[in-house]
Amino acid sequence: MQMAHEKQNETEAEIIDGKSLAKQLRESIAHHVSVLVEDHKIMPGLAVVLVGDDPASQVYVASKKKMAEQAGMRSFVHILPKTASQDEVLKLVKSLNAQKKVNGILVQLPLPKQIDADTVLKEIDPAKDIDGLTITNMGRLMAGLPGLVPCTPLGCIMLIKEVEKNLTGLHAVVIGRSSLVGKPVAQLLLRENCTVTMCHSRTQNLPHIVREADIVVAAVGKSAFVKGDWVKPGAIVIDVGINRGEDGKLSGDVDFEAASKVAGYITPVPGGVGPMTVACLLGNTLIAACRQNELTVPHLS
Ligand code: NAP
Repeated sequence: MQMAHEKQNETEAEIIDGKSLAKQLRESIAHHVSVLVEDHKIMPGLAVVLVGDDPASQVYVASKKKMAEQAGMRSFVHILPKTASQDEVLKLVKSLNAQKKVNGILVQLPLPKQIDADTVLKEIDPAKDIDGLTITNMGRLMAGLPGLVPCTPLGCIMLIKEVEKNLTGLHAVVIGRSSLVGKPVAQLLLRENCTVTMCHSRTQNLPHIVREADIVVAAVGKSAFVKGDWVKPGAIVIDVGINRGEDGKLSGDVDFEAASKVAGYITPVPGGVGPMTVACLLGNTLIAACRQNELTVPHLS
């Protein structure tokens, strides 16, 4: 399949700049938030629940709070000790479900081991489930109904559409089948009329399958897992992985140096999918606020 943007006779892939696209998206969200405040006196509110003191989670939560405030939203951060019981977390979620000023609820994962994440996620009101992880929102995505779509998959699709508007008929290979990334990204690619192949740890001949892909989404959690010679020349490569090496450096699931010599387009790590995830979280909070107030959802771009 020849893609509209397929590059010929070039050796380096074009980098899809997630940082800059995420900035544009946050600016668009901030504009719509200001309209909502001015016209309807509604300021979208994002509540983040953090249980424990995991340093990476603390960084993510601080960044979400800052970005929400920069977009003109209210942000509420609730921190519970790492010894908190499941009942305490459930009680907090129930109280956030009931608060009118809270339009979106995010429970930062992972949770300490005494708490069952599925039980906590089930308690979130689907209308405020800005991570799109409740069974209701997952079902809506499967059924093609409007709902709240998980942020990282949404960010992946926006990055792909930045370089290829029409994905109809393209072969997309998704590596990873988690509920957080792999499964929803595959659903979104289906919605775009891609032919989707889902791969996982039991897949046979993975390099061969990836070589057939016009679009590769890697969500495995293993540094440099996808090799350069697995990539079809000109393919769009979206690297979801965030892996921290012993030196503290971040790397993706794709061998960036080798793959960027073959791919048409590729996302870097950091600076690719990560910033889009946070921007889409704000987008979902805005969408949730509009729906809860029976207002038209703005088009975000
Ligand atoms: P996960 O729940 O651990 O899922 C990993 C998936 O990779 C599983 O489906 C697993 O298959 C598959 N896998 C493992 N080894 C494999 C192999 N050898 N060959 C093929 N598939 C294999 O991880 P996740 O939550 O989806 O996250 C994936 C990565 O994305 C992680 O690095 C995570 O940190 C990152 N992430 C980034 C963002 C962001 O904002 N950028 C957001 C979320 C996640 P099985 O199902 O068979 O075990």
